[in-house]
Amino acid sequence: MSFSKLGLSQPVIDALSDRGYSEPTQIQTQAIPIVLKGKNLIAAAQTGTGKTASFVLPILEKLSGAQTQKKKRIRALIVTPTRELAIQVNDNIQAYAKHLPLTSTAIYGGVDDKPQKQALIDGVDILVSTPGRLIDLYGQRAVYFEEVETLVLDEADRMLDMGFIEDINKIIARLPQDVQNLLFSATLSNPVRDLAKSAIDYAEEISIAKTDASKKNIEQWLVTVDKDKKSALLSHMIKENDWDQALIFIETKHGAAKLASQLEKRGIHAEAFHSGRSQAIRAKLLEDFKAGKIQYMIATGVGARGIDIHELPRVINYDLPYPADEYVHRIGRTGRAGAQGEAISFVSKDNFKNLCMIESRLGHLIERRVIEGFEPRKEVPISILNYVPKHKRQKD
Ligand code: AMP
Repeated sequence: MSFSKLGLSQPVIDALSDRGYSEPTQIQTQAIPIVLKGKNLIAAAQTGTGKTASFVLPILEKLSGAQTQKKKRIRALIVTPTRELAIQVNDNIQAYAKHLPLTSTAIYGGVDDKPQKQALIDGVDILVSTPGRLIDLYGQRAVYFEEVETLVLDEADRMLDMGFIEDINKIIARLPQDVQNLLFSATLSNPVRDLAKSAIDYAEEISIAKTDASKKNIEQWLVTVDKDKKSALLSHMIKENDWDQALIFIETKHGAAKLASQLEKRGIHAEAFHSGRSQAIRAKLLEDFKAGKIQYMIATGVGARGIDIHELPRVINYDLPYPADEYVHRIGRTGRAGAQGEAISFVSKDNFKNLCMIESRLGHLIERRVIEGFEPRKEVPISILNYVPKHKRQKD
């Protein structure tokens, strides 16, 4: 599937390829045609799925036909729960609109409103705003809604959690009757459905199917860390968190033995489990690990194939697995039978391409954390979803 098949025109497609996006994500494939047709939409999609572009791209497409940019009169309104999200969405708009004569701005509370008012006087096509500041500026006649064609409620569930329902209702009540409504939310909980029902007459509904991996009760996150700090980080985390058990995946047999001895020096006993150890030893290690007699086991991917442990609380990808399916397979070992599990990956800059493939396979970004004292000197860039390795890319 290409962006052009979705009905997007060249200036938008060029901006996407400038960012290295070759294909739409699942939410984009589903949402863009609906929005382009002018229909209302309710979409369940989490952050990290490419949801922002799924509403921004068709809005740009629709607005680029007729440009007005009248003083204080906006044509698309995107309401977000937080200032950070407003800024982020606006940054995305500006990147995607780079070859189009459209303007956008983000407004939010907690800062001087004069530059925001001036931007509105200068003319804004797409306004991204938090609810409170929007109501405030509307009350001051700094912005008018009568030319608004599209409203987006982004992260609607968070806005409700943050108590913005009254502000949202006020905004909706002041918009033209025939406005196109788009609602995005991580979950379609009852309060979100109630909001949708009261605000939107009829809407198409889409829900981005979660991958098997994310369906389960597994908390997935990654730590960015320099390669040479991984073993110190692991000891630190084991001590700091006082983990009961962890299955630690590493790439090579040699690496497993080395890591076990590095941990030993720091007072942590871990067993290496790999094909270099005899079958009898491996069987015993497995039995002891299952019985909780061994707390930490360091396994190579190949060595661990046969490990079947129910309700393992935690897996650590000391090395990121390859290919991406192996990641899904590994983390599937935790959180079995409805139990809560945790999958933590150590990621250094040289793992970037591998991370792109894994996150593309999952269809979303994995939450990132940095551990104090282990901040990477070499930053790991943010992945490109739908990453296709060079050797697999089609020749244009
Ligand atoms: P979002 O869910 O909107 O926060 O997007 C998550 C990340 O995916 C952001 O870093 C986007 O820039 C990126 N992204 C969005 N669409 C695509 C795409 N079609 N291909 C690759 N990356 C994308």
